[in-house]
Amino acid sequence: MNQSSSNDKVLILYGNFVDTPKLNQLRVRTETLVLVVNGKIVFIDDSISNKQKMIADMKQLHAKADVQVIDNSNSFKENGKVKFFFPGFIDTHCHAAQYPNIGIFGNTTLLDWLEKYTFPLEKELSTNLEKAEYVYKKVIQKTLQNGTTTISYYATIDKESTRLLAKLCLELGQRAFVGKVCMDMNSPDYYTESHEDCVEDNKELVTSIRTMNQNYGKSKFVEPILTPRFAPMVQGKTMKELGKISKEFQVPIQTHLSETFSEIELVMETFPNSKDYTSVYKDHDLLNERTVLAHCIHLSDDEANMIKKENAGVSHCPVSNSSITSGECRVRWLLEKGIKVSLGTDMSGGYAPSILKTARQGLLVSRHVAMKTSDEVGDRDKLSTNEVLYLATVGGAGVMNLNSIVGTFDLGMSFDAQLIEIGEGTNVDVFDWQLTSSSDDYNLIMEKWQDIVDKWVFLGDDRETTKVWVEGRQVK
Ligand SMILES: [Zn+2]
Repeated sequence: MNQSSSNDKVLILYGNFVDTPKLNQLRVRTETLVLVVNGKIVFIDDSISNKQKMIADMKQLHAKADVQVIDNSNSFKENGKVKFFFPGFIDTHCHAAQYPNIGIFGNTTLLDWLEKYTFPLEKELSTNLEKAEYVYKKVIQKTLQNGTTTISYYATIDKESTRLLAKLCLELGQRAFVGKVCMDMNSPDYYTESHEDCVEDNKELVTSIRTMNQNYGKSKFVEPILTPRFAPMVQGKTMKELGKISKEFQVPIQTHLSETFSEIELVMETFPNSKDYTSVYKDHDLLNERTVLAHCIHLSDDEANMIKKENAGVSHCPVSNSSITSGECRVRWLLEKGIKVSLGTDMSGGYAPSILKTARQGLLVSRHVAMKTSDEVGDRDKLSTNEVLYLATVGGAGVMNLNSIVGTFDLGMSFDAQLIEIGEGTNVDVFDWQLTSSSDDYNLIMEKWQDIVDKWVFLGDDRETTKVWVEGRQVK
């Protein structure tokens, strides 16, 4: 360990660290000491014998720096609480400008809902920047409160409104991808743009958002993302230009794919020369390893294989898909093909500003899929709590190509984390016999930890997320 200078920010953390480095693997490290310097994890030890001495030594070594010690020794005996650190959640699909509409989806279909609820609000926030700032701050704060440390946002069609969202993410400390919604065809008269404006605005935003990071002493903390709304609303020549920008400047892309049957019909009417919906994106150079595809419910085998081949990622949005009655994404089928899968709230198609709730709904949707397939494949389609937590963290990091930066607690990674507290006084009652015993039986201890984590996934909400850090900065 190197000594720190006076500008350094040092966090010394002690307690239980839980994460999911592999699909269906819950890693629990108890009585663990973690050192974070300037937002990065530089030391982890889960086998220390003298905690007090280690912490004192670390404080001395970093005496010149700004040091904070957070000791979360298991405190059930004193206050009935179980505490553990968990990686921050990653939401790979969220419409920031639609946040005021969460909980309002009525009894409409996807395409009606866009006309009635979505476009008028987005239009308002594309011109009224004061109102946009108010809404964007709310959505950033609310998702941070819920433990979402990385998020991929759709802003509005307007360049300034998009830039404002990027600036607010930097100010409030949320790692983000921020995209200007592109729609230059089949869009309402009051909310549309020209091909030329769309291409120029995107080029400018790529440069200006990347430069903006430097003003906050950051690099790629907030990234631009190309955001063609969905194929039927973007001209072929515009998609091609966006594909060029993606390639030239290594910019990620986000869009919607295969959400409802009427949408698929509309796509095939609009692009009759493409073989299927996924091919429309492939044919227009928008399918690559940086592409995030929301929904992917009604894909054919060929389409899924194409996504795998291009190494694009999927944002599974089970709350939205259930609310709008879009269908049930076959997540196991995608995972077995080796496709990268993550979770998205899809606000306001989804009503919950919470990836924990999204993970829970993902688990339940997988059980609905399993009820239909169990005669043939048994329980295969069911996702476990560990699997949905993996999608919520490591899966999201994979889809956003941030695997070396966030998703787990490993050396060299950013400290993007949440502190979970369950037990006395929370929504999640824990009874003393459900706790890790002082037994040396490793399997028994892990079984009990699994129960604790399962309880949190099913019963917890933002109230159990008591602290949140992004790149070492405490944001809750
Ligand atoms: Zn969406």
